[in-house]
Amino acid sequence: MIIHNQNFPLITTVVPCYNEEKALPYFWQEIQSVAEQMTKLYAVQFEFLFVNDGSNDQTLDLLRSFAALDKRVHYLSFSRNFGKEAAIYAGLKHAKGNYVAVMDADMQDPPALLPEMYQILKTNEYESVATRRVTRKGEPILRSFCARCFYKLINKISDADIVDGARDFRLMTRSMVDAILAIREYNRFSKGIFGWVGFRTYWLPYENVERVAGETKWSFWKLFKYSLEGITAFSTAPLQISSIMGIILCLVAFLWIIYIVVKTLILGDPVGGWPSLACMILFIGGIQLFCIGILGQYLAKTYLETKKRPLFIVCETNEENENAAEIF
Ligand code: UDP
Ligand code: MG
Repeated sequence: MIIHNQNFPLITTVVPCYNEEKALPYFWQEIQSVAEQMTKLYAVQFEFLFVNDGSNDQTLDLLRSFAALDKRVHYLSFSRNFGKEAAIYAGLKHAKGNYVAVMDADMQDPPALLPEMYQILKTNEYESVATRRVTRKGEPILRSFCARCFYKLINKISDADIVDGARDFRLMTRSMVDAILAIREYNRFSKGIFGWVGFRTYWLPYENVERVAGETKWSFWKLFKYSLEGITAFSTAPLQISSIMGIILCLVAFLWIIYIVVKTLILGDPVGGWPSLACMILFIGGIQLFCIGILGQYLAKTYLETKKRPLFIVCETNEENENAAEIF
């Protein structure tokens, strides 16, 4: 437990890091100067919580050295790469702050926005200040286009309010953090979870910033799988669509049968039309497989949820009283 003055609000910054040895020194410098500025301006205190998500570069060494220099630094190091979602969850779970900020290590979530975000929360009118990129400068065109389509689609088919361009970068009050931690699902899609828990959220727009150093961990394929994760986690519309498709096909088949029976009775042509029959069989077979696939996706998610495996396993930390596996 860190010793802090109870009278001053504590702000925890949760930073998931996966192979960030190049970006972390810049981030560390920047967050320190922002913290110093805010400590003077608002009489707040800071806790810097880094989550090393199984990096295989010097990230952990860097975190150890930050912790040796500054008592406000805490780190959790996972036993392997569990993904950004697990890292965010672990960070929120260990954050002690009255306010908690989730931010990337690559400076794409500019720490310089924190004072403005804190000022908005301080008025008690909002429980969360979230950020939204108004531009996607520096991003491949195809990636931006697919992202836009994804946001349009998911907002139509789910009731979680997911804003286009929303980042995971946000500052939240303790009540919102507790609500997020109460969601104990294995397949975590943070953008959806933030929206789903509700609370009054102020959207702070900003221009896209390119990564300061290092490389993005998200390939197009990874993003595609992540978007499917989002859809299955927050909507059952694909299941409904497959049922509706089934009903429509049954109706078409029924009308077709009547047509064939009548045609055969009148014209007496029993063997004609086999190519169309082959096409129909292929088409319906394809749709059946597609629908079974959708069903399988949901079943797989249910399967993983029922296993109740820990979301992450910590193998090293400078926090006290730490159990290795976090099981809820
Ligand atoms: N990250 C992580 N685990 C992963 C992938 C990414 O903790 O498996 C972290 C990464 O270190 C960074 C943040 O998540 O702090 C965002 O990753 P990145 O910058 O690669 O994503 P992008 O900004 O390109 O969407
Ligand atoms: Mg980034």
